[in-house]
Amino acid sequence: MLKKKDPREVLVIGGGIGGVATALALARRGMRSQVFEKASEFGEIGYGIQQGPNAYRMLDWLGVMKDLEPQAVFTRNLILIDALTDRELTRISCGDVFRKHFRAPYTVVHRRDLHGAMLEACRKREEITLHTSKELVGFTERGKSVIASFADGSEYEGAALIGADGLRSRMREIIIGDGAPRAAGHVTYRGVVPFDQVKDREHFDDMVIWIGPRLHFVQYRLRGGTVMNNVATVASEKFARGERRDYGGPDELAEVFSRTTPHVQEMLGYVGKDKNWVLHDREPRPGWTRGNAVLLGDAAHPTLQYLAQGACMAIEDAVVLSGMLEKAGSEINAALQAYEKERYLRAARVTITSRIFGDIIHADGGARDLRNHLLAQRTPETFWEVDWLYRGIEA
Ligand SMILES: Cc1cc2nc3c(=O)[nH]c(=O)nc-3n(C[C@H](O)[C@H](O)[C@H](O)COP(=O)(O)OP(=O)(O)OC[C@H]3O[C@@H](n4cnc5c(N)ncnc54)[C@H](O)[C@@H]3O)c2cc1C
Repeated sequence: MLKKKDPREVLVIGGGIGGVATALALARRGMRSQVFEKASEFGEIGYGIQQGPNAYRMLDWLGVMKDLEPQAVFTRNLILIDALTDRELTRISCGDVFRKHFRAPYTVVHRRDLHGAMLEACRKREEITLHTSKELVGFTERGKSVIASFADGSEYEGAALIGADGLRSRMREIIIGDGAPRAAGHVTYRGVVPFDQVKDREHFDDMVIWIGPRLHFVQYRLRGGTVMNNVATVASEKFARGERRDYGGPDELAEVFSRTTPHVQEMLGYVGKDKNWVLHDREPRPGWTRGNAVLLGDAAHPTLQYLAQGACMAIEDAVVLSGMLEKAGSEINAALQAYEKERYLRAARVTITSRIFGDIIHADGGARDLRNHLLAQRTPETFWEVDWLYRGIEA
């Protein structure tokens, strides 16, 4: 049966970071929405996430930073260390000059704290209705409305339909239909450990990346500094040789890291080996909009994590989309087209730069020598590489 509450309402598919940010942004501008999540509960995985100053300003505008701040760690420096020598290569200081330049700090948070703060804010807004166990299977357009159909047979009508349904988006399948995302051949292992179990505490309020041939290891503290988040990644040799199955397993992780210093190898003990994440992105392309339906976040522009910006982009998308819808009145398709136009190349730049940054941090041989030489010429207050990104957008 068709549930027709308010035909001006926006339907949001997916209750991840992008979906809940969209509902909040719409509410902030006085618009009603319903969020449909296919899982039986809203939630996020139990690891860390970095928020560039561009995302911090958007989260502040959404009104969630006040609740999130006690849990967030304000990063002092972003540091790159050579994993083969344990020598620092360069750093970006996130102190006063950084904060003034980008009008916000760099923070790291637990995903559940970020998602939880946004979800709580959604629950407090009467403009937002949240649904779980609702898997979108299709949608049709009827006049000026969009009808979303769910696996349980229910249908809902809204003025616009936003596909924030992630990397393997059903909405994308319908709107663009460009098949599976691209496997990068990179595999990540994660682990969160109590801070007092961490042996080397030199960099306790920094975000540190040890970089080496085909590998890197990221470390930063979370939850007011009580736990340490650890992420180990390998760019699989097996995958590069054309072996598309079972690549990047714990054996390959250990083998790739065997060239690193004992200190770096020891840190591998902080990540779980029983689960890993195979990394994907997509070639950037426009065409996110069909009629009054549009894609957002990973559904529109999945990226590798090397700029730590996938979720930040989803949050920016949410703010821009809500602004376009507010301005457009009943011209929904024009608003969605304007949102796509505004977001397409910025998101594409993140996707492409993330790949390039991945190649740079994983370099070996002469490329590694050149990288280290060039990085040595930076100062901690050299921001040009990230200026376009961290300056962000206006709400
Ligand atoms: C190793 C790693 C590290 C990362 N680090 C960072 C970082 O430091 N900073 C950063 O900004 N980003 C980071 N990212 C990227 C970030 O995690 C993603 O970009 C972000 O979570 C995408 O959010 P989303 O809401 O678009 O999609 P998702 O989080 O995937 O949410 C999609 C939601 O839609 C639901 N769904 C799916 N299909 C349907 C359907 N048919 N019907 C209804 N619901 C559906 C899903 O259950 C899910 O809840 C990282 C990614 C990885 C892999």
